[in-house]
Amino acid sequence: MVEQNHALLAKWWWRISRENDSLWARVVCRKYGLSHQDWLPQLPSYGRASIIWRDICSIGNTENAMGNVIQDGFRIQVYSGNNTSFWNHKWMGDQTLRQEFPRLYLKSSQRDELVCNVLNSVGNGDWSLFFQRRLHDWEREQMNDLIGRLQYVSLVPSRLDVMLWIGNSNNLFSVKSVYDLWEAETFTQNFGLGSLWRSLSPPKVEIFSWMACQSKIATRSILSSRNIMVGVDETALFCPFCLLELETPVHVLLSCPFSTVIWSRIADWWNIVWVAPSNLADLSFWWFSSHFKNLEKHLWECCFYATLWSIWIARNDAIFNNKIVDCNHLEELIKSRAAMWIKAKFDIKVYTVEDIKSNLDGVRRLVI
Ligand SMILES: [Zn+2]
Repeated sequence: MVEQNHALLAKWWWRISRENDSLWARVVCRKYGLSHQDWLPQLPSYGRASIIWRDICSIGNTENAMGNVIQDGFRIQVYSGNNTSFWNHKWMGDQTLRQEFPRLYLKSSQRDELVCNVLNSVGNGDWSLFFQRRLHDWEREQMNDLIGRLQYVSLVPSRLDVMLWIGNSNNLFSVKSVYDLWEAETFTQNFGLGSLWRSLSPPKVEIFSWMACQSKIATRSILSSRNIMVGVDETALFCPFCLLELETPVHVLLSCPFSTVIWSRIADWWNIVWVAPSNLADLSFWWFSSHFKNLEKHLWECCFYATLWSIWIARNDAIFNNKIVDCNHLEELIKSRAAMWIKAKFDIKVYTVEDIKSNLDGVRRLVI
């Protein structure tokens, strides 16, 4: 079975990474020019590789559900930061910082810098990020986002960075856990979440929504479970809106009393009676199986993205900028975002953003 073969190849890579002091691993690393800084296996840039090594390398570039599971499952736990590339390795969250902040990466003058050279002190959130040109205002917003994340990192200079596997709660690799993740991945690909790619909202919003529905966003509880927020008081992991419960993706975006009110107000705007589902995947499934047609359906779907995204931005504002979030303001913001996105997508000239907000019925009857 192809999947079983891939899981076994991934196990080899895990052993090479974790047993890198053993003789056999050192021989493999020397033969194929691997360094501590490779977090997925690479084909050598010169010379020939054996068939087995080529197979092992295939885990890093196979684009199917199993390939995704394996590539997503390996992470680096940063201690000293001496072996980990700040922008190019997956050490914070589900993506590399290069993937998450592409504009900042492009402007960076430290594209190959190691974590230890960017975070130059231990534990006080001090950093040295340099750019080739001045950042625009909207790039500064991303920069604030990035700096907010770096606050939680403390380096431990005496320890080497290590590879982790996120498929098991103990962060150790097992072939069974690859299967479990693969089954979950094929389930989500087959049911519902594929419908989240609509090009209705900015790509980063659709990517965020897709990740949120799979609970893969960096809320405080998830950062804690990945050892990124370690040693902080438990209350620091609480939801920034209600300050009462652990901040999980489903809590902060859906079941927190604050977020439930926001979703209810958007449903009210549409004259729709809704009962909050228990998780975000069910919410997206319900939302995207609406009976609406044409423009009405697209606007309804824009509201899903706008609500999820706006709650998340409000959450970041509350955490990183100490802003007090107001329900009425957020509701207006969601309606404005949805209206702007639908206008951008379908070039609607007869209605302004304000018209769409105040005359939803008229827009719903509009046929394009
Ligand atoms: Zn809450």
